[in-house]
Amino acid sequence: CTPEVRELLLSRITDVPNYPKPGVMFKDITPLLADPKAFGALTDTLVELAGRYGATKIVGLEARGFILAAPVAVKAGIGFIPVRKAGKLPGATLAQAYELEYGTAEIEVHAEDLSAGDRVMVIDDVLATGGTAEASLELIRRAGADVAGVAVLMELSFLPGREKLSGALAGAPLDAL
Ligand code: AMP
Repeated sequence: CTPEVRELLLSRITDVPNYPKPGVMFKDITPLLADPKAFGALTDTLVELAGRYGATKIVGLEARGFILAAPVAVKAGIGFIPVRKAGKLPGATLAQAYELEYGTAEIEVHAEDLSAGDRVMVIDDVLATGGTAEASLELIRRAGADVAGVAVLMELSFLPGREKLSGALAGAPLDAL
């Protein structure tokens, strides 16, 4: 994005120390969502990226990824697909487990939402360890679709998320605004 948009977005993200647990610096995007100029600039930037990726579907990662991805899908005129935490989707799903710091988590997508020929853009707010995004890319590939690119508002560059994701990206772009 332009330096002006970048400054605007940064000015609307709040650092909340020790949330949700000690040692975590939580990136709170609610001030950004409450500012239509900032939220609009963010979605416009993501729509432009979707065009550059040649995306034909937009995947949002639960939960804040939904908020960012849905308006992008509408503005770009392409479908929105939710990737949800396990147990939330009523239809036949593909599921993918991934490692957390302690234990594992699982995400799911409706199997019928993605198919061969789709070029999928993944959107989330924060790339931290990269585990969630990596699992979403596995789901997309297992559904037979192609990964067009991954876009996040923020990348925590002190964590090796980008490195972790590089294999699963297989050359597709990762953009952190
Ligand atoms: P990860 O799988 O470690 O890359 O974590 C990514 C997911 O956790 C994203 O969906 C983020 O919304 C959330 N997340 C991780 N770390 C943070 C953070 N410091 N602030 C806000 N959200 C975070």
